[in-house]
Amino acid sequence: MPKEVYLSGLFPQEISELLGYEKRWRADQIYSWIVKARPDFSSMSNLPACEREDLRLRFGDLRSSRIASELEDPDGSLKLQIRLRDGSAVECVLLEDIEGRKTACLSSQVGCPMGCTFCRTSQLGFLRDLGPDEIMEQFYFLKEKRGFVSNVVFMGMGEPMLNLPAVRKAIALLSDPKGIGMSLRKITISTSGVVPGILDLAASGPKVRLAVSLTVADPELRSAMMPVNRRWNLAVLKEALLAYQEATGERITVEAVIIGNKNAGKEHAKILADWVRPLKAQVNIIPWNQVPGTDNTAPSAAQISAFVDTLEAQDITVVKRMSRGRGVMGACGQLGDTLKLGNPST
Ligand code: SF4
Repeated sequence: MPKEVYLSGLFPQEISELLGYEKRWRADQIYSWIVKARPDFSSMSNLPACEREDLRLRFGDLRSSRIASELEDPDGSLKLQIRLRDGSAVECVLLEDIEGRKTACLSSQVGCPMGCTFCRTSQLGFLRDLGPDEIMEQFYFLKEKRGFVSNVVFMGMGEPMLNLPAVRKAIALLSDPKGIGMSLRKITISTSGVVPGILDLAASGPKVRLAVSLTVADPELRSAMMPVNRRWNLAVLKEALLAYQEATGERITVEAVIIGNKNAGKEHAKILADWVRPLKAQVNIIPWNQVPGTDNTAPSAAQISAFVDTLEAQDITVVKRMSRGRGVMGACGQLGDTLKLGNPST
C-alpha cells in the first residue's frame, strides 16, 4: 500500500513530529538534504547509517513519486513524466530562457476539470488533486536534473485555485528562508479565472505573482472556449483581479492563447485591449500550440504580428511568449499528450 505521508511536503517541525524525534536538529538535517534535492535516504551522509536504514524501512523511498520518462527539447526545455504513488501520472517542465531563468512549470492536479477547449490536459479529464509532497517532488526532480531552478509557475496540469491548500503549502516550502528560500516574486500562480481563489489569495496570501489565462474578452466566445466564464464572468473576474492588485500592488499577467480560427482577429485584440486597460497588466501572447483532437488551427505569424500591433496601438504592454518546449509537447496547453491518467502501465 502506498504510504500517505512523505517527507518532501513537510517542514522540519512536521518531520520531527512524524518521526518522533526528541532532538529537532535531526529533522533539520533531513530537511536540508531534501531541499538540496537529494533523491534518497542513503545520500544523507551526516545521518548515522542505522538511522538512514530505519528511514528506508519506514518509508521505502524518500519520494512518493518517480520519473517515468524524460524528454528534452532542442531548445533546452526538459519535460518529465512523473508516476505518482497511486499509479496516476502528471507532467512538469523546466523552461530555460535567454536571460538564464530556469522556470519550473509544475502541475497541481492530475488532469483538469476546467474544460478549456484549446488545452490538451482538459482532454484527459480530472482524476484528483495533488498533495504538497507530490507538487514539491516535481520541483525536486527538475532541480536534481538541472542543478538550479530560479522561478516556479503553477501553470502545468490542473487549476491551482481548486487545490489551494496544497499549492499554499508548496509555496510556503519553496519560499522558506531556511530551505529553498525562493522569493515570492519568483513564484506565479496561473488561473483560468476561479474568482474565489483569487479573492482568497488577495485576502490571505501568499502574495505571489498572479497570471490569468484570459485568452479572449468576448463574453460568448470566452464561454465557448473556457467554461469557467459561465461560472465567473468577465466583469466578476476583473473585479477580483483589481482586488488582487489592490492587495499586492503587483502587476498582473494576462495570458492570451491565440488560435488561428477563433480569436486571432484584430477585433478580438481591440476587445481584449478595452478589457485589460483598467488593470495594471501585461498581456502575454501565446500562439496556440497544436494538439490533436480539436478543430483549432495554429495562428500564422502574420496574425500574431497584427494582433500584437493592435494591442500596442492601444497602449497595452505586450510580451510575445516564445513557445519553448514545443518539441516535447511541454509548451502551454500541451501537457498530458503522452499520458494516460491512472494507468500504471503507461
Ligand atoms: S488551460 Fe489550464 S485550467 Fe484550462 S483545462 Fe488546461 S490545465 Fe485546466
